[in-house]
Amino acid sequence: MHEFKYSNRQLYCEKIRVEELALRFGTPLYVYSYHTLIGHYLKLKEAFKEIDPLICYSVKANSNLALLKALVDKGSGLDIVSGGELFRAIQVGCPAAKIVYASVGKTDREIEEALARGILFFNVESFPELENINRIASKLHKTASVAIRINPDVEPKTHKFITTGKITNKFGIDLKSAEKILLRCMSYPNVNISGLHIHIGSQITESAPFVAAITKMVDFIDRLKTKGLSIEYLNIGGGLGIIYDRESPQTAQKFAHKVLPLLKKTGLRIILEPGRFIVGNAGILVTRVLYVKSTPKKKFVIVDAGMNDLIRPALYSAYHNILPLRAKEEARREKVDIVGPICESGDFIAKERRLPVVREGGYLAVMGTGAYGFSMSSNYNSRRRPQEVLVIKDKVFIIRKRESYSDLVRNENIPAFLFGL
Ligand SMILES: *Cc1c(COP(=O)(O)O)cnc(C)c1O
Repeated sequence: MHEFKYSNRQLYCEKIRVEELALRFGTPLYVYSYHTLIGHYLKLKEAFKEIDPLICYSVKANSNLALLKALVDKGSGLDIVSGGELFRAIQVGCPAAKIVYASVGKTDREIEEALARGILFFNVESFPELENINRIASKLHKTASVAIRINPDVEPKTHKFITTGKITNKFGIDLKSAEKILLRCMSYPNVNISGLHIHIGSQITESAPFVAAITKMVDFIDRLKTKGLSIEYLNIGGGLGIIYDRESPQTAQKFAHKVLPLLKKTGLRIILEPGRFIVGNAGILVTRVLYVKSTPKKKFVIVDAGMNDLIRPALYSAYHNILPLRAKEEARREKVDIVGPICESGDFIAKERRLPVVREGGYLAVMGTGAYGFSMSSNYNSRRRPQEVLVIKDKVFIIRKRESYSDLVRNENIPAFLFGL
């Protein structure tokens, strides 16, 4: 469900015609729908209301301050993966007790900052990291709360770059080693192991991998109990898939129905870390057709958004639906490649796609780009990163202005010797 719909053959975001936004703000342009964003958060909250979990939105999916603030205001916590994301979480006033921090490579400085803020817990991904957190906490005369991130070794049936819960992935700790750590927790006097964490991958459309992973956790928690070890939290991560193409992912309701019985069995406080599920369909990337180029073998639609604005097609061979902002009556279609202006053959948004014939100067919407769109953007080819706007009903707000050329070189410096001084 999302709030991007045609009316009189024109694409709207909530109550605003998207072409109006393109003309007013220029392209490429990320457009987000407030009600789609919040709607997804509330849907998940409602589906799990029996156990009243803490939902920690995964900041890396889209870290714009306005979107974070909107979610935090509705009661969401935040799942962070860096000091920079902690900074953002604090900027939007997220209570520290609702922040969880995962990453295989937390630096000393990042650990110190998070400890100083008093976050709910670190999701610890290795034995050396645990020792380091203990050392830093001791130095600061604090006790660090941690959850052990378990690598449950399950196959999530998604793209291999976004699979994180197989034993060959760099994430988490295997069950045997985790048990050893828990039995030895006395040797970490400045650490309080308060939970277990899993996050098995992203864009997972079925419940089976989640059920498999959570079942392993339930068994593990039982086993710990027999050894006199008890914990408070079970964090089941994110990874819920959305519709990009012809997937029919489980709804929040169906997902909850499958995993709730297992979660209730643990008696623990449950945490969810959804990213894509909340923001994925709440955003589109609007782009303008610069040229239509026919070659002996192909037709290319060259647009003004490149892989620096949206890298998912190049990185994950991701599929994004592409819609014209004006739908024509007679929809003659042709097969085209939609490509950006960047000097890379990987710079494409879609390949061999049957689209209604488009003209130079026309606008296209790349759908489902709210998650891992802007947050993965870069300045490659010295391109200014796009503007982002948030629509709520018939109102629009600029939530990140388009970068300027001076933004591009702001932190660069030409040493005096190069001027012959
Ligand atoms: C990326 C990430 C998430 C969010 O994943 P989605 O697929 O966007 O839901 C949650 N938890 C952790 C630890 C992550 O790294």
